[in-house]
Amino acid sequence: MSENGDVYHLEMPKIGIIKGVLAKDIELVGGKVVNVRTCARPYSNVYSVAQLRVIRDVIENYGSGKVHLSPRHNLEIPEVRQKRLKDALRELYIAGLFPGGAGTSVRNIFTCPDWCSRSIRPVQELGEMISANFGDRDMHNKVTISFAGCANSCSRPHNCDIGIIAAGKVSVADEKCPDDCSGCIDACRFRAMDNKDGRISINERCTYCCRCVDACQESILAIEETGFRVLAGGKEGSTVKFGQECASFADDFEVLELIERILSRYEKKGGLRPGFVKKKERLGEVIERLGLEGFLA
Ligand code: SF4
Ligand code: SF4
Ligand code: SF4
Repeated sequence: MSENGDVYHLEMPKIGIIKGVLAKDIELVGGKVVNVRTCARPYSNVYSVAQLRVIRDVIENYGSGKVHLSPRHNLEIPEVRQKRLKDALRELYIAGLFPGGAGTSVRNIFTCPDWCSRSIRPVQELGEMISANFGDRDMHNKVTISFAGCANSCSRPHNCDIGIIAAGKVSVADEKCPDDCSGCIDACRFRAMDNKDGRISINERCTYCCRCVDACQESILAIEETGFRVLAGGKEGSTVKFGQECASFADDFEVLELIERILSRYEKKGGLRPGFVKKKERLGEVIERLGLEGFLA
């Protein structure tokens, strides 16, 4: 409700407002300005030139001349004048910039750019599918999902509620390596490679990171199949957790299935945080309480 008693109800389904606390639905109570969090669709982390032009106009016409790129690649437009908020949101909405990425729901899906030279396989299309299927779904608490195109994990999948990391199975050509080469063995952080009389083999410690393939100048190593590692239960914040591995090499369909399973188990098994009246558990807390197997059962 505004100062003069008006209640603002917008048609747009998901509104992200940052005003000390994050709220998903908008009902303005006092104050003169609000901060608007928005994210692009269909690609949640890629903004087109046309969208950037609209954002520039909204900042200039309704805001304070500033914009902030959030850690999950939402654009946050601070200090939008309340009286013009509806106009600002309408312009963003028409340009495919949806308010959201806040509250107790599945947040903006964060993906690596497909054009990164280290990417094992493109991830944005699957990210878009996940966004379409699970984006903004109401949850007990916020759920962050990140995709990484390789084990470098720039999108921080280990510290997200659900982290997905592209992986590749490596094939070794039936050829003898040069005597003085140890490029792949030096590149492997997991001691997963053996060299016996110039013949390379890969052992069970392999995590499918493909660093060895980049290191091989002789084309003896190649990526023969790609998939994804899937982690669940990580988080950042005042307490930090690393996600636990739910799948070591899942295909696209299995990733979608697993995300649905993780989210539905969380909906079913998540409860109040011990000692709290309202605050619900984060996904990682439920997994910690039940154990990964018990959680997924
Ligand atoms: S995680 Fe890999 S693919 Fe993604 S941005 Fe980093 S280096 Fe590139
Ligand atoms: S894929 Fe990664 S873990 Fe596996 S052998 Fe190559 S460098 Fe080592
Ligand atoms: S597989 Fe490639 S990098 Fe590894 S030892 Fe042979 S030639 Fe060198």
